Amino acid sequence: MLILKGTPVFSDIATGRFAVFCGNSEFEERGKAGTPAEEIERFRSARTAALAELAELYKSAVEKVGQSGADLFEAHEMMLCDDDYIDAVETRIKDGDIRAEMAVDAAAKRISAAFRAMDNAYMRERAADVFDISNRVKRLLGSGETRDFSAYDGAVLCAEDLYASDMLQLHIGTLAGIVLSGGSVNSHTAILAQTLSIPMIVRTGMPFTEAGAHKTVLIDGFTGTVYIDPSEAIQKDMETKKNAYDKRKLQLSRLRDSVSRTADGRKLPVFANIGSPDNLLQVEENGAEGIGLFRSEFLYLDKEDYPTEEEQFAAYKEVAEKMGARPVIIRTLDMGADKQAAYFKLKKEINPALGMRAVRISLARPDLFKTQLRALCRASAFGKISVMFPLIVSLEEVLQCKALLQAVQAELKAQHLTYDEFMQVGIMIETPAAALISDVLAEEADFFSIGTNDLVQYTLAVDRQQTELDALFNPRHPAVLRLIQMTVENGHKAGIPVGICGDLGADLTLTETFLRMGVDELSVAPAAILPLREKICSLNLSK
Ligand code: PEP
Ligand code: MG
Repeated sequence: MLILKGTPVFSDIATGRFAVFCGNSEFEERGKAGTPAEEIERFRSARTAALAELAELYKSAVEKVGQSGADLFEAHEMMLCDDDYIDAVETRIKDGDIRAEMAVDAAAKRISAAFRAMDNAYMRERAADVFDISNRVKRLLGSGETRDFSAYDGAVLCAEDLYASDMLQLHIGTLAGIVLSGGSVNSHTAILAQTLSIPMIVRTGMPFTEAGAHKTVLIDGFTGTVYIDPSEAIQKDMETKKNAYDKRKLQLSRLRDSVSRTADGRKLPVFANIGSPDNLLQVEENGAEGIGLFRSEFLYLDKEDYPTEEEQFAAYKEVAEKMGARPVIIRTLDMGADKQAAYFKLKKEINPALGMRAVRISLARPDLFKTQLRALCRASAFGKISVMFPLIVSLEEVLQCKALLQAVQAELKAQHLTYDEFMQVGIMIETPAAALISDVLAEEADFFSIGTNDLVQYTLAVDRQQTELDALFNPRHPAVLRLIQMTVENGHKAGIPVGICGDLGADLTLTETFLRMGVDELSVAPAAILPLREKICSLNLSK
């Protein structure tokens, strides 16, 4: 038995046959170069074939995982049509008298190195996409064959790394699990594994070879442990763990349609945090009573350009319609700091978390803000939408946001476009400043939602991205709890409800504290809803 340790991406137990996966990159160049004209022609037809493959993949990804999973293929199509990319390959063929495969390789290395050197984390990730499209072209330059992915059905896929595009070509529904020697928890592949509930472990550091083929692999996605050729004792242990987990899930699923209410009758609705309409499946599976935080910036990330009003309108409307009478709180753009997209052209900052982010960007770019507000207001005619503004530190900011909102509503009215005239307007309390003046802010808000992730960061002066500072990032610090309590009291004095949408809302050891403070709603990741509901139902505040 061989034991590997890695980082878990999706927690569950899985077992299956060991199957080594090589992406498009396994297809290496062989043979002598033709004339430059011949090689350019070979490149052009492989590129055309690659575009056709991507168009097919796009279609099937929309069906399998929804629009946000499919966007990647559209981005790849755009990269393959980029003049700089085409020029880089063709110039190398002409200058170097080399095979098209080598020219594609050289161009991919140069372009991806340029991406990797960028400050922006999102752009650095694009280096992998350049290799992905180039490997596709190289494969098509070789045999042009269509691959048979059925060998991976029911297996644990083991690979050096896995591109999201490769993953979507597999019969993913049938994959038992994924183990990568490299990879990252923030990659598109990881996001897809979470969306599709596939147990996955990354960064095991062990190169996989065919030597392990046909052996059994067992994944413990809770601890990040991989067992190759597991002993009988381990298999038994894992079976027991899996049975206990499945039993627990089944038990929790019975609460899906229940109300989150304590034994003595106090209701504390549990909402879901989402980033796209594609997450609605998990929202339903976990019986969310509403959407407490739609992180609208996810519609802007992973894009080459600003999403249009129509694109945003379609996304907000879909969520509003599917949620029906249940509330949907859409948070306006929260870009900046760790959430970057190149086309925003944000300046490099020394302290980005204290810099140009969230509502500051929206107020500095009223056209951008108004486009989002128009989409949001128009969608409000189709369900129970509320809007809320992130990272507020002053009353002036709230008044400016509301003035823009009113201007947009007046514009819509003049254009005879419908919207909910009574749409509620909320403020996120995620800075100590906002908590400390929450009595003043409450006069201008219909509700508060406490973003504890940022509230902890700014109260304790601990960067939430710095893993070395994890021990100092203490959401249960008395200063944080006092700010929460103060916000709830001020909100209630003004007669408005106060929810929590930061990760602290899912901390079951604080559920009773929040109930006693008078918190009116908790919004958490879909998978955290049912354990939280179970906890609420188990409490009796009169005792
Ligand atoms: C928060 O800060 O708690 C929050 C909910 O917003 P985000 O995590 O998206 O910054
Ligand atoms: Mg926040």
